[in-house]
Amino acid sequence: MTTQAEISTKSKAKFSFSLGKNHKLLIGYVTLLMLPFVAAQILDMDFKGWYVSLLSLINILAMMAFFIQFPLSSRIKQLPLFANIDWSMNQHKQIGKWLGIIFLLHPMLILAPRFFVSFDDGVISLIKTLTAPQMLTAIIAWVLLILWVLLSIYKDKLPMRYETWRLTHLLGFVAITILATLHITSVGRHGQFQDQFNLVWWGLCGFSLLMVTYNYLLKPTRLKHQPFTLKEVTKVSCCDWQVTVEKQQGDDFYFEAGQFVWLNTSSSVHGVNEHPFSIASCQNDLPKISFIIRELGDYTNNLDRLTLGQQVYIDGPYGSMSLNDSMQAKGITLIAGGVGIGPMLSLLRGLVSNRETRPVRLIYGNNSLEQMVLLDEIQKLTQQMPHFKLQLVCQQLVCQKVSEQYKIYAGVVDKQCIENNIDLTQADRWAVYLCGPKPMIVAVKHSLKVLHIPNSNIHYERLSF
Ligand SMILES: Cc1cc2nc3c(=O)[nH]c(=O)nc-3n(C[C@H](O)[C@H](O)[C@H](O)COP(=O)(O)OP(=O)(O)OC[C@H]3O[C@@H](n4cnc5c(N)ncnc54)[C@H](O)[C@@H]3O)c2cc1C
Repeated sequence: MTTQAEISTKSKAKFSFSLGKNHKLLIGYVTLLMLPFVAAQILDMDFKGWYVSLLSLINILAMMAFFIQFPLSSRIKQLPLFANIDWSMNQHKQIGKWLGIIFLLHPMLILAPRFFVSFDDGVISLIKTLTAPQMLTAIIAWVLLILWVLLSIYKDKLPMRYETWRLTHLLGFVAITILATLHITSVGRHGQFQDQFNLVWWGLCGFSLLMVTYNYLLKPTRLKHQPFTLKEVTKVSCCDWQVTVEKQQGDDFYFEAGQFVWLNTSSSVHGVNEHPFSIASCQNDLPKISFIIRELGDYTNNLDRLTLGQQVYIDGPYGSMSLNDSMQAKGITLIAGGVGIGPMLSLLRGLVSNRETRPVRLIYGNNSLEQMVLLDEIQKLTQQMPHFKLQLVCQQLVCQKVSEQYKIYAGVVDKQCIENNIDLTQADRWAVYLCGPKPMIVAVKHSLKVLHIPNSNIHYERLSF
């Protein structure tokens, strides 16, 4: 039976309005986006009718959004607005698509009114625009931008290595940024007449290029002086490896259980040969850090070629999952899909080292039992917490005996499976940590919503951007 106190807590949760982390980030983003528009108002531009003013507004906002794409993809831990990498990369991708559409339409929207006045007038304006020498930078930038946005959208379908795409993406957008800034400051409605306004755009262009220089030149040089050593590469399931590295020297490495880093095992600290992996160990295991890595592509399929004792470089930690988010929770459920077990192991080890006494559940799903990693170690961790339960979930049928030994739930991590492992009378007081492939995150988040677990209690990491 539900007590009065529980009813009161539930209704408070229902009616109190508080801004979530993502809402705050969105407000920060929109504020930043508006700055050049506010500058344009302060500089008091001529009003040339509502259509031109509306186009100006769209162009200024789009150009600012274009510049913000650089910090969004730059892993800047020091600036809170850009420190949540999952949020930043998601915005970077979504906004990139919108910018592609806006800039594709940009010349058409400018020339459209002339076509409405007279078709011949429109054709003459179009020819003049295409042949004007000062429009050359704009035309090149426009073609490159549309091509590069398409390359990004369809990158997974192209016969191109991820690293090649990343380098092309970077160089292409640096070129587009310079060309587009030249265009807006020489031909743009504001830039043509306002030197102060041009300073805003050149400042933003310079800041974007500085960010690229920091990420690809300055930061790697710093990382070079803080190397790690490769200690262990062991196969821990039919398709997963445990990779362990050890810190050599330099400052202490502090991370929160559940965070991830970019790991570079190539011979050069510069370049684009780094991959994001979640840390599977916890702070107590330092100076060693371990990862669970699933074979997926050209890098992860060749981990056995790495040489023990070689130097590796680590950029991080990043990511916003943290056990601090569940300090007030009555219980904790960790849900891992496939290689999502990496950060969940880190959280589990963190909970063990904190001597956790609250109920803790680990729901760990994979296609088959052969894909499960470190089950013996997980069983041992089970014994170190008084209220810990493990629920394995397998899609492929397993034999009755094995199924009984591990009490395997047949299927995927669905609503029923979560329901079996959560105290439903206190569902709104439990924290859920979730990590796995994108479709699994979407499906589990939906089940959690149906089970009335508030969004603010769900902390998740997708294993892709
Ligand atoms: C935050 C985060 C945490 C992750 N944690 C883990 C983990 O703990 N264990 C694990 O096995 N995998 C993890 N991944 C996924 C892992 O990064 C990719 O599987 C790996 O980089 C694939 O590299 P590849 O060359 O073998 O495959 P590829 O065939 O080159 O790439 C396959 C896909 O992986 C992604 N990818 C590849 N390289 C990069 C890169 N440098 N940066 C970003 N994405 C890339 C791309 O979406 C690409 O389409 C994580 C990903 C993210 C974003």
